[in-house]
Amino acid sequence: MNNKEAVLVYGPSQYPYKFNETHPFHPLRLELTYSLLEELGAVQNQPLIQPSAATKAELELIHDSRFIEAVIAGGEGRLPDSAAEAYGLKTEDTPLFPHMHEAAAHLVGGTLRACDAVLADGYLHAFHLGGGLHHGFRGRASGFCIYNDSSIAIEYMRRKYGVRILYVDTDAHHGDGVQWAFYDDPDVCTLSLHETGRYLFPGTGHVTEKGTGKGYGFSINVPLDAFTEDDSFLDVYRAAFTEVADFFKPDIIVTQNGADAHYLDPLSHLHVSMNVYREIPRLAHQLAHAYCGGKWVAVGGGGYDKWRVVPRAWALLWLEMSGQTVFANDHVPQAWINKWKDKAEETLPTTWTDAAIPEIPRRKEVTAKNNLTLEKALYHIRTEKQATRKQVDKHE
Ligand SMILES: [Zn+2]
Repeated sequence: MNNKEAVLVYGPSQYPYKFNETHPFHPLRLELTYSLLEELGAVQNQPLIQPSAATKAELELIHDSRFIEAVIAGGEGRLPDSAAEAYGLKTEDTPLFPHMHEAAAHLVGGTLRACDAVLADGYLHAFHLGGGLHHGFRGRASGFCIYNDSSIAIEYMRRKYGVRILYVDTDAHHGDGVQWAFYDDPDVCTLSLHETGRYLFPGTGHVTEKGTGKGYGFSINVPLDAFTEDDSFLDVYRAAFTEVADFFKPDIIVTQNGADAHYLDPLSHLHVSMNVYREIPRLAHQLAHAYCGGKWVAVGGGGYDKWRVVPRAWALLWLEMSGQTVFANDHVPQAWINKWKDKAEETLPTTWTDAAIPEIPRRKEVTAKNNLTLEKALYHIRTEKQATRKQVDKHE
């Protein structure tokens, strides 16, 4: 029997996307997640797609050919330093590594195959663990990202399937690359919830960034205050995602699922617990069924506590998507802990929820600030809705 509910896109062909052993964006995050799902028994009877590399023509849907040539040259050790800098390569965040073009093209290919699985092969949902490189620009690498798989996949779906896409990004960092790629496009709506750019990379994602020209109103940013906790994060997330979905009425939803808003994450200052990573995919799943006949593609993204946070967060997403949440009611499988405990740099978690998390200062102020930010972010949607309602009343 072939279960057409959900398909996982994953394979070791994605491990070579590795800057170096100590770099936070490490492929072990993928392997640990898959291993956890295996020990749960949550992948054995489920469909799996092995990612293949995107072609150069596919990469050129978004990226400049000169940038692609630079990435190829960089991976072959023949890119001069001055050129590397101009393309955002050979930086501390995004250093050169051997065969980086091939490795990055495999991450893009995975997201493209996930989209085809949903739009051509009859799957309702697809999860590509290795995707979510949302900082990649047309002509420049940035923030651990070389090619922007989501931007390419969105442009690919627009051209091949003529669909309108809602992209929802809950990584702790602003989804800048995807936002700027479609900033003037009314057929692609981007919603990014992230830690405010005041002190955090990439510094953009202000509430006033709403799109331009015909695309005005279709970029929505909700920059959250540092130390935001579960309740405020989820209140804002639920209101924003629900209202934006109702406003835009997408044909398909793409979610970027960076897991770096967790309080243990070393690279952000948000303060959520594992509970948020159970709720994020639950709402995405509901809204995909409410607005898109189920069509939902999910990708990974950031998340830099690779032992304690990322495997559980991404496993919860797959369990939600594939209708197997029952696996996360109990303990994290002992077999997974035994398999990795000698290699792990942290004590591996034994439960699916975080017990007691440290208290934060200024809880009330943080919540009030986030509510105000949400109001500003959704202002144009809420006023348009009111105007439409008045219009309808007048005609009745
Ligand atoms: Zn991030």
